[in-house]
Amino acid sequence: MYAISRVTERISQIQNRLQAGASDQGASFSNTLQTELSTGLTKPGSRSETGLLGGSSFLGAWSTVDALSARTSGGVLGGPPTPGLSVGTAAAIVRAPGDYGPLRPPGALVGYGNGNIPREALAPIGIANHRLWGPAAASFRSMVVAARREGVEIGVTDSYRSLQGQEAVAAKKGLYAEGGLAATPGTSNHGWGVALDLDLDPQAQQWMRSNGARYGFVEDVPREPWHWTFRPAGS
Ligand SMILES: [Zn+2]
Repeated sequence: MYAISRVTERISQIQNRLQAGASDQGASFSNTLQTELSTGLTKPGSRSETGLLGGSSFLGAWSTVDALSARTSGGVLGGPPTPGLSVGTAAAIVRAPGDYGPLRPPGALVGYGNGNIPREALAPIGIANHRLWGPAAASFRSMVVAARREGVEIGVTDSYRSLQGQEAVAAKKGLYAEGGLAATPGTSNHGWGVALDLDLDPQAQQWMRSNGARYGFVEDVPREPWHWTFRPAGS
C-alpha cells in the first residue's frame, strides 16, 4: 500500500539521520516507534477494523515520528522549554484540568475496549512494568530523559489499568462523581493506555506543568495533580 511504504520510507530517513550522529536514546525511541508501526501495519483484528491508516492511531504515530525528526535534527523540541507554546506535532495544548472534554481513545486500541487491552498491544515506558499505548510510551520515555537532564525525576505510580483494576480502585477510593478519586469502571483514561499517575515532588510537579505538554502529556483531571494523560493536539 502506498501509505505504508511512505511510512517505511519516512522511518528509514529518520534512522539514517540517527545513525549519522544522534543519541542512543533517539535510536531506541525510533525502534519503539518502528515496532509500534509495524505491529499496527501487520496485525489483523481491531486495528484494521478501525481503519489504521485513516484513524487517529496512524496520525498519532505519524505525529510522533515528526516530533522525533524535529528533535533529532536539532529542531524545536531540542530547544529550551517554552511554556504556553505548543511546539512539535506531538505537543498538547494546555487547558485548565476540567476543560479537555471526553478523551478520544486511540484508534488502534478502541476495538479491544476500555480496560481490556492485551499486554502485547501496549509498550513499556521504561519504568518498572508500566505500559502505555505505543506513541504515549515513546513520548513518555523521551520526556523522562529530558527531565533527568535537568535533574528532575519523574516517578510512576500507575499506568494502564485493566477493568478489574479500575473496579478495585473505585471500591477503594470512591467514584469521582461522588467526591472520590476513581472513574466509573470502564471509562477511565487509564483503561485506554494513555494515562499515568505520577509520583512527583514539588520540583517535578512544576517541571511537568512547564514541559509535559511539549510531549503530549497534560493534567486533565481537577483535584488530581498526579494524573497526566497523553492528549497530543489533534488527537
Ligand atoms: Zn489517574
